[in-house]
Parts: sequence; structure tokens; C-alpha cells
Amino acid sequence: MQAVFWGVRGSYPVPGPETSRYGGNTSCVEIRTNAGERIIVDAGTGLVRLGEQLVQNGEQLGNFHLLLSHLHWDHIQGLPFFAPIYQQGTQVSLHALRSDVAKLPEVLRRVARHEFFPVSMDEWAARLDFHEVHAGRRFGASAFRVRPFRLNHPFGAMGYRIEADGTSCAYVCDTAPFFQVLHKKHFLRGPEPLSTADRRALQKLRSGLVEAIRGCDTVIYDTHYTPEEYERFPHFGHSTPDQALQVCAGQDVRCLVLFHHAPNHTDDQMDGIAEQYRALGAQLGMEVVTAREGMTLPVRGGT
Ligand SMILES: [Zn+2]
Ligand SMILES: [Zn+2]
Repeated sequence: MQAVFWGVRGSYPVPGPETSRYGGNTSCVEIRTNAGERIIVDAGTGLVRLGEQLVQNGEQLGNFHLLLSHLHWDHIQGLPFFAPIYQQGTQVSLHALRSDVAKLPEVLRRVARHEFFPVSMDEWAARLDFHEVHAGRRFGASAFRVRPFRLNHPFGAMGYRIEADGTSCAYVCDTAPFFQVLHKKHFLRGPEPLSTADRRALQKLRSGLVEAIRGCDTVIYDTHYTPEEYERFPHFGHSTPDQALQVCAGQDVRCLVLFHHAPNHTDDQMDGIAEQYRALGAQLGMEVVTAREGMTLPVRGGT
């Protein structure tokens, strides 16, 4: 199995000379089996390049499985520009958590309304089907077994453990840590006092996550902030590399991938982060890789 990183940024795309090495597109990762089957995780602007490459290789027809962590812009923005959706005979299966506001097709239909985008969703040529995912309820998609688990993020997000070829990787994006803020379904101006029930809920989220990633060869984790930035924005729903290391340490994870980089982090800053946490990971016996757009990472173990 291997992971291909098409977009590694959080929040919004940042093309330009200061991000050319790590990349400016928002979240999109393709997981491939040794036999070439694929599952796509998140539909940020990185998805556009993947779509173009599929067309170039003549692989645009078929059944594409797309897992969405949640419906924030940086995770769905590439979808209306994904070339295979304009191909007759193609099927795109979207898997996502249920939003309380509207069902998934309704949310996407609104985003692609003609006021915002010239081709409404009903005009997309591909057949779309929609699947709600539920924490702990495993499902099969192409050659993969997928296990969704809940994360701590405004209005909810899902992480996924993805298994194939006798090995596994996990996608943990977007999530805040589990000690200071419990994200619910209202806007937070700052950290709110935690009730006993809130603390219990955080504990439950953390243990669900830890259990889901245990024994994964590779874990791709939302490490948007440096520790200093996190101190300023603890209620924005993102983690630091230190927090990711704490979650993965002792869970038999071989490789941690730092992902969903803050848009204001330049390549030079990312080099510093990569080096610092590579060294820290080595002390804990874990390989720490900082995701770059275009990177292909082998998920080891298995067949
Ligand atoms: Zn995000
Ligand atoms: Zn988000």
C-alpha cells in the first residue's frame, strides 16, 4: 500500500514562491493498493491535479471512493473541479459524516449552486452516490476496509483507519487535542469552561482515536500549528506535532506524517519543523515525515 499526497495544506490554498517545495494545495490524499486500487481521502484543491492525472492516464472511468473527513471548505473545494465527475459512465461514491444542518448531497448541492459555480451538481455527468459514515461502523470500499472514528473539531470530523494489503494507515484530520476545548455544534470565541461531562467526552474521543490508530503502520495527522500558535488559537480545532506524537507514542505506530500545514508556514519554516520533529520522533522510536505535495510514501508491512 502507498499514500500519495496531492494537497497538504489546511484552511486555504497558498500557491507561490514561499510554498513551492511543500506545496500550496489543500487536503487530499490518495491511498493505493499494490494492485493499483485507490481510495481518495478528502477533496481539497489537491484533488484537481489527481483528476487531471487520471484523465491523462486514461483512468478517469470507473468507480471512485472518496472519504470526506468533514465538510469545511479546505476538504471539499476540489470536488467540483475533479475531472472524472464530468465523465459519463463514472461513479463517485462519497462517504462522510452526517451534518446536522443538511444531508451530504444537500450540502454539496448548495456549494455547487449556480450563484457560486457554473455547473450545478445535477449537471455533473458521473453517477454520485452518498454514504453516511458512523463512528465504529466499518465498511468496505474497493479493496479497502475502512473504520471511521470521531475527532474533536467544530461541528465534528471523522478520522479513518484504512486497511488493505495486510497493512493499515490512519487519516486523522482535522482535530484539536483532547484536554482544553471540546468542540460541539456552536461557534467558539475562545475556550469555554469544561464540565465533568465535557471532560469525560474528551477522554472518550481520545481513547477512541488511540484505539483506532493502534498498530497502524502510518498515521497522517493534523499538525496545523506550532505550539506557540496553538496557545493563541486553542479553539480553532487543530493540533501541534507534539500533540500528535503524544497520541501516537506507545501505540505501535511506525511512521507519523505531519499534515494540514498552516497556510502561513513558508517552506523555510516547514524545513525547521520537519527537522525538529524528525529528531524528536527518533527519540521516541517513530519516523516523523513532514508531508509535501507530490510525495509518495510507502505504507509498510503486510503483503
Ligand atoms: Zn481543514
Ligand atoms: Zn476543518
